[in-house]
Amino acid sequence: MVTLSSFPIRENSMLEVLKVVLQIQELDMKMIRLMRIKKERFKELDQIASLRKELHQQLTEKEKEIEELNKNIRAFESKIEEINIRLKSLEDKQNHIKKADEFNALTQEMTSAERERIFIEQKISDLVDRRVLEEELLEKIKASLTTSEHSSQALENEIQASIKMINDEGSQLKKERDELAQTADPDTLQIYERLLRNKKDRVVVPIENRTCSGCHIVLTAQHENLVRKGENLVFCEHCSRIHYWQESELLEGTATATKRRRRRMVGA
Ligand SMILES: [Zn+2]
Repeated sequence: MVTLSSFPIRENSMLEVLKVVLQIQELDMKMIRLMRIKKERFKELDQIASLRKELHQQLTEKEKEIEELNKNIRAFESKIEEINIRLKSLEDKQNHIKKADEFNALTQEMTSAERERIFIEQKISDLVDRRVLEEELLEKIKASLTTSEHSSQALENEIQASIKMINDEGSQLKKERDELAQTADPDTLQIYERLLRNKKDRVVVPIENRTCSGCHIVLTAQHENLVRKGENLVFCEHCSRIHYWQESELLEGTATATKRRRRRMVGA
């Protein structure tokens, strides 16, 4: 490549700087994927917990309903007792009465008390029927709570184990990255990290068919030439990603070159 500079600038010196950043980028992509999976796992744990909470809530509500029914039934039963006592005393009174009109008045009072008793007895019977139904439901809730607690516990253990594996893999990645970062050019690394924080995606990308492989917008020939020269960092004017020239021997043996080759083979 011919440069206009009077001093011989080492060709693609920028690419050498970017080579380390590209390796770091691959690790960062793995880390981002890993953290996404971890987030999913935590979401699953939340779902299990909320399902369990819901079942517990249903159980408590059902128990309260049954308790309320019991209270009503007891209240009606004591009313029946009152009525029975009243009837008994009316009967006693009637036994000692000799006048027909007074006797009839008492009979009428007793009849209405008996009618009230029948009415309340019917109510008790309805409530008892309902209690039977509610108690059946309660048993069903209890049973499904037990099953779901067993199965969700197994699932929970599985998820926890997978989170542990993710954490282990994450700390391994971090270790590798820390080591690589030591060898990287600090200024370039800083720029890369800032871009990565914004995009959460690859931010050092190759030019492919004069197109930014980050935003897929076509670039100018001048822009491509600048990147080929590799003297400075060149940013995509559309998406701000850093461009590099991937047809360089410098990249042979790296993940980027291997991927390119694989893609070629697939295309062939
Ligand atoms: Zn772009």
